[in-house]
Amino acid sequence: MKPLIVANWKMNPKTLTEANKLFDSVRNGLKNNKKVEVVICPPFIYLERLKRDSKLKIGAQDCFWEKTGAFTGEISADMLEKLGCSYVIIGHFERRRYLKESDLIINKKIKAALDGKLKPILCVGEIKEEKNKGKFSTVIGAQIEKGLKKIPRTQISEVIIAYEPIWAIGTGKACQPVQAKITSLFIRKIITRFYGRKIAEKIPVLYGGSVNRENAINYLKKSEIKGLLIGSASLRSEEFIKIIRDAGSF
Ligand code: PEP
Repeated sequence: MKPLIVANWKMNPKTLTEANKLFDSVRNGLKNNKKVEVVICPPFIYLERLKRDSKLKIGAQDCFWEKTGAFTGEISADMLEKLGCSYVIIGHFERRRYLKESDLIINKKIKAALDGKLKPILCVGEIKEEKNKGKFSTVIGAQIEKGLKKIPRTQISEVIIAYEPIWAIGTGKACQPVQAKITSLFIRKIITRFYGRKIAEKIPVLYGGSVNRENAINYLKKSEIKGLLIGSASLRSEEFIKIIRDAGSF
């Protein structure tokens, strides 16, 4: 499997012109890329308007759990799929924190994404105090168990997990690669419990949290980490391109 690198643009950039400039610059910088699967997740309103081609995949930063109806402000997985999205980030910590998304909601969204033929990227991670008290496994175990509740075996291999320690997101304090590897092994252990080892081995675990050009490769060298979810560095096209080139070169 190719490494998977996902750009989470969050609520950036401010204009469509800037979004197209950033997108074009990444696309041009990756003309010869065949070794890395690259997904750009821009704000919803840019999804349809970026001048796309097959080099870069497109993903959304969220989706709703119903297909259609009276749900003001929401966007369904089906709508996103029809726009050309292949992936969707679900349960990002900023949505858990600011929008109060619970594991129950996240579980519904994962199911909707899968039914809508999108690959959900389920984000999990612990806060600093949980890390310091050695509780990370309890927290992450519960997020995985609840987030993936009743996902059938026929769909589970479409799911991607992103380990994003909350204390590492946007702080410049990235997690040690060895810790990311340990967590990834733990995540696989939990999935094995419900789906068996064969399936668990197929599910990619990504790392996210203050990834930059200097540290990116260290995660990918640890064989357990199959890719990266990148926030701020994905808004700096030169740096983002270098990360992808590095990822494709070993
Ligand atoms: C994120 O928000 O998913 C993220 C990883 O952000 P950053 O790379 O900026 O820490």
